[in-house]
Amino acid sequence: MLNELELTGRAATHVVLCDDLGAALHREVILPYLELRDAAWVDGIELQIVSGYRGFDAQLRIWNMKYRGERPIYDECGQVRVHASLDQAQLVAAILCWSALPGASRHHWGTDIDVIDRAAIAENYRYQLLPEEFAPCGVFSRLNSWLTENMARFDFFRPYARYQGGVHREPWHLSYAPISSAALRLSTPELIAITVRDHEVQGKDYLLARMPEIYRRYIENISPLPPKRGQDIGP
Ligand SMILES: [Zn+2]
Repeated sequence: MLNELELTGRAATHVVLCDDLGAALHREVILPYLELRDAAWVDGIELQIVSGYRGFDAQLRIWNMKYRGERPIYDECGQVRVHASLDQAQLVAAILCWSALPGASRHHWGTDIDVIDRAAIAENYRYQLLPEEFAPCGVFSRLNSWLTENMARFDFFRPYARYQGGVHREPWHLSYAPISSAALRLSTPELIAITVRDHEVQGKDYLLARMPEIYRRYIENISPLPPKRGQDIGP
């Protein structure tokens, strides 16, 4: 299983860079992902990973830029918020709705990926990873339905299938359950707190003081796992 450095994105010893996939993945996720991709291909979907493994430093940069107002901040409805109008609690809540705390991103594990359907879009289309793109009239609507129908056969699920008060709905974000569920159990509030404490994370004191609450709302609070492979899903 993943060690503490790997769990928090400070080591990449568990991932393999796959040039033809354009991403690094946990070594045990590569084969299941290729099976998923090949099955999608048969149905005319060209699955492409747009984000795989992401290390601590990359997540830290995103976090600190948002915290300082150097990147746009959105509320849970996707509306831009004016940085200067937010108090610390509102600022942290708005960032956590869309971006993980450094040390607590599921992308650190190499088990989670953001995907699009390359075949559904023109060469010059700039995907944004917005729920509208995956809605019934969106460019990735067919990908969305295909994943809903098929991903569980390959042990993938959507941890952010719906908004439940924490992270925003992310239909493009898939997770390889056999490894990510174990990784989540090992990513304790204590481990994340130590990681935040030891790095230059903006808002550190506030985050450390509220870690149990942040953990419950944004890290542990994911959509349920699908039934096991081969298990009857029922009517
Ligand atoms: Zn993601």
